[in-house]
Amino acid sequence: MRNLMVKAGALTRLMVFVSIVAATVSPAQAAPERVALVGGTVVNLDGGPALTDAVVLVRGDRIEAVGTRDEIVVPPDAYPIDVDGKWLIPGLMNMHVHLGLILPGKMATELAGETEGELTLRMADNAIRTLEAGVTTIRLPGDTAHGDLALKKAIARGIAHGPRIFSGGEAVVVTGGHGSESGVIFNDGPYELIKATRREISAGADWVKIFISGGIATDGGDISQPLMMPEEIHAVVDAAHRFGARVAAHSGSPQATEVAVDAGVDSIEHGYFLDRKVLRKMARAGTWLVPTIVVSQPATEPFFRELGSPQWYLDRRDSVGKDHWQALQTAIAEDVNIGLGTDQMAFEPNDGTSATVREAQYYVEAGMTPLEALRSATTEPARMLGAEADLGSLEEGKFADIVVVDGDPAEDISALRDILLVMKGGHVYRNDLGAR
Ligand SMILES: [Zn+2]
Repeated sequence: MRNLMVKAGALTRLMVFVSIVAATVSPAQAAPERVALVGGTVVNLDGGPALTDAVVLVRGDRIEAVGTRDEIVVPPDAYPIDVDGKWLIPGLMNMHVHLGLILPGKMATELAGETEGELTLRMADNAIRTLEAGVTTIRLPGDTAHGDLALKKAIARGIAHGPRIFSGGEAVVVTGGHGSESGVIFNDGPYELIKATRREISAGADWVKIFISGGIATDGGDISQPLMMPEEIHAVVDAAHRFGARVAAHSGSPQATEVAVDAGVDSIEHGYFLDRKVLRKMARAGTWLVPTIVVSQPATEPFFRELGSPQWYLDRRDSVGKDHWQALQTAIAEDVNIGLGTDQMAFEPNDGTSATVREAQYYVEAGMTPLEALRSATTEPARMLGAEADLGSLEEGKFADIVVVDGDPAEDISALRDILLVMKGGHVYRNDLGAR
């Protein structure tokens, strides 16, 4: 029974199954359910030796203990899952996802006229698929109509299923800038931007998203143009930080990035044209880079073609590819803080795997060690979110967000292609262990 294979859609059934098993063996009414992952190897994200023949004991939604089989006795009320010969890592974290993303082409045509209700349901479906791809935490830098904030609340309350969500609510957009489609509220000058920042935070956003330069997905305007004024960027960052929120800035521009780093921005998204000078400045300031390298590189081109992306979109993608790659390589060489993000759905199939895993593989191709790439999807995003006390590693007291893989990703990052089990907050959302 424990090798039960779960297909997408069987999610709820599996959760009920785990609950029933735990309830059957545990007569104590109020005691939280316990699960023990037994016999696997826990990858050491600090670079030390891995913990072999391990037991990870989960109680309720948290990790109760991690140790060797000699050190930890599996309590009789714990439901055991045999992970002998497998590797255990923290749930993956993807720092740039839009659950309601609509890309130009076929998708935009099909979803024209989508209502806010329909959008929120589509986001809920994407959230479940994200979890099933092993991604247990996401940051949403700008979505539409606050469906993201509704979903975040619903998941936190346990009435919807999906990854943990950190969200920017709606992006704060200046007139004529990137992201300024019809229907979007424009904000110009420091006071309007301060108001918009506070509006999103009061709606529940823990990040504020701004576009300080042009971008790929808007036809027109130079991707490297610094569109926002320095006083506008400073105003948003100051207003957000006073409320304890963080600021993510979409930027392809070195000049705009310099200003944003001086203003104390928390993360730079994409960074298509960042040069060594500004990347060094980011490294000194501790500013995060979320590369989303999959958006501009060859491995994802079939995805965009299949989607029926218009030629102008494909051309804009190609036009940044080389510089984007060089910026990533330089950022890695200069030790810039990097949190993995894709700007595609975390699960989006690309090159035989998910966008999240392909992104991590690109980091290795650009100069990271496999361990560094794995950290960019676990410990590093946890630090970026300020959530390292709860997330990012398999330690006692942290959330039981655990992924089981078939090889050691700290040795070979492509081991992430073989995800066998996904647990979030102690619940198993995917179990393919029986299939191997
Ligand atoms: Zn984006």
